[in-house]
Amino acid sequence: MQPFPAPVPFPIQLPRAISADCVLTIDLGAVRANYRTLRDRAQNAEVAAVVKADAYGLGAAHCAMALLDEGCRTFFVAQLAEAHELRRLLPADTAVYVLNGLRPGTEAVAAACGIRPVLNSLEQITAWALISTARNERLPAAIQIDTGMSRLGLSPREVDHLIAERELLDWIEPVLLISHLACADEADHPANAEQLARFDRLAAFLPGERRSIANSGGVFLSPAFHNNVVRAGIALYGANPCPGAPNPMQSVVRLDARVIQIRDIPAGTGIGYGLTYTATSDMRLATLGIGYADGWPRSLSGRGHAYVNGTRVPFVGRVSMDSIVIDISAIGDGVLRCGDFVELLGPNQTLDDVARDAGTIPYEILTSMGRRFHRDYLDIPAGQQLDLTRLA
Ligand SMILES: *Cc1c(COP(=O)(O)O)cnc(C)c1O
Repeated sequence: MQPFPAPVPFPIQLPRAISADCVLTIDLGAVRANYRTLRDRAQNAEVAAVVKADAYGLGAAHCAMALLDEGCRTFFVAQLAEAHELRRLLPADTAVYVLNGLRPGTEAVAAACGIRPVLNSLEQITAWALISTARNERLPAAIQIDTGMSRLGLSPREVDHLIAERELLDWIEPVLLISHLACADEADHPANAEQLARFDRLAAFLPGERRSIANSGGVFLSPAFHNNVVRAGIALYGANPCPGAPNPMQSVVRLDARVIQIRDIPAGTGIGYGLTYTATSDMRLATLGIGYADGWPRSLSGRGHAYVNGTRVPFVGRVSMDSIVIDISAIGDGVLRCGDFVELLGPNQTLDDVARDAGTIPYEILTSMGRRFHRDYLDIPAGQQLDLTRLA
């Protein structure tokens, strides 16, 4: 086999801030303000931060450090690798939980790193107890029970088994008992009260542990849902946790995409893949350097909008992998030039607006946002600037 050739050193650096066609601005001050809003709302409950999937695409390290500075001490991620990265950054008086639990064989490394699993089955409880015994310490963990979503957590039968054989817990420290709501974003959905009732009934047999059932949506249900800990994700990042009502959260993200070409076309000319759009009159078009490869959904073809200095302009034709064409016929001559930015998320168009137009939820828009974007952070806490650039 040919050896892999040594890399040729490039003569110059190329910062993303210069090369990228899109800039995602993340306002950590707004993330902190949202944390305070949730704390006010959750009253006596602790507000834990869900920073899974790289803090919903916004940068787990940056978001976690900002939230730490705001007083947050409990963090949830989905997978062990995410917990491993975060655990290195956070001080010892914080807790990092893995929502998806641990695959068999990974318990020892999690324990050694001080990571806490969410135990979702009797097998996972047994495995964690074995590692505890081996380390001769009662290791802390959360236990999740399924109260009606049928996704993760101990089934009712497993809970019965656990209640009957409580010694299964003798070797672990079950510090938190959790469950997850299927319909927290629908305040009137009867499943919310049913899940809470089931949670309270089962939790009564597993005394001692702190309890947690609310996600962001749950924080805005009645106080009965707050328990001891709420697990907030999407609300921290600015999407509306109570759809239908005015958004109580501050907007966190702004996305601007550059114009990479401008052209005039005569009436009758087709636009984009499939020529799904034909100009009905002479038009001026701008092509943006963003596409579905950057997480801007193809379902926005012919439906999405951009804003040019506050003026709404429509997408025309299909969203391509790396580009989108907008109709700027209504924009004055010379106002928009190649290299200029147009707004895709910001004061004129929220995450919730885009999700609605794309036929999806803000979670999907956020977590899909492009790896090619330049990410610009506002309000990095004092003293963290250097550390984080090293990690970025
Ligand atoms: C993702 C997740 C959360 C956070 O949900 P949001 O709706 O983003 O607040 C909380 N708990 C569990 C178990 C989750 O999977």
